Amino acid sequence: MSARRLLLLGPPGAGKGTQARLLAAQLGVPVIATGDMLRQAVAEDSQLGRSARALMEAGKLVTDELVIEVAKERLNREDARHGFILDGFPRTVAQARALDALLQKLGVELECCVMMVVDEDEVVERLLKRARIEGRSDDNEVSIRVRMREYREKTAPLAEHYRKLGVLRETSGSGSIEQITTRIEEALKQGAEELA
Ligand code: AMP
Repeated sequence: MSARRLLLLGPPGAGKGTQARLLAAQLGVPVIATGDMLRQAVAEDSQLGRSARALMEAGKLVTDELVIEVAKERLNREDARHGFILDGFPRTVAQARALDALLQKLGVELECCVMMVVDEDEVVERLLKRARIEGRSDDNEVSIRVRMREYREKTAPLAEHYRKLGVLRETSGSGSIEQITTRIEEALKQGAEELA
């Protein structure tokens, strides 16, 4: 499994964050999760946090402009030079195009986009459970519905973008954490073989 520039794509609650952390530890690369960065900005009540808060709480996507800036700054840092796992960015076609342009400028390529395919009802259940455990302010039923709609309308079309680039690998996001990790590793190996 040699790919080190990866993107995990999938609806909210698909388990991207968990899998991103596990893969990152294995590969020795950082996870770049715009959702975590934005939550931190909200907690710090920075200007970015103040611009993002209301949209996040409603379950809506933050504007492309803001989030592209956040992602750019992070990807330009030294520790992302030798690889990264993107979790939650890009989420729109405009963001994907901005990422393509940035990576081109950095002289690197996204090696694999792993699409985690899950059943919507299963995911909503997971999110409600997470709401009870973690108490995230955007994990309530109304916001969860909005987030799923935002995903379907704006983010799911990215599969086509990455399919055209030849880096899309689809994998089932159902089952235990271990089962999903194994499937992602297989998808990555398959990708590496196809590219070899
Ligand atoms: P997440 O933790 O990835 O589910 O993100 C939580 C929230 O942060 C989302 O519901 C959005 O409001 C915002 N967010 C995170 N990443 C992005 C992104 N790439 N584009 C727009 N909004 C984002």
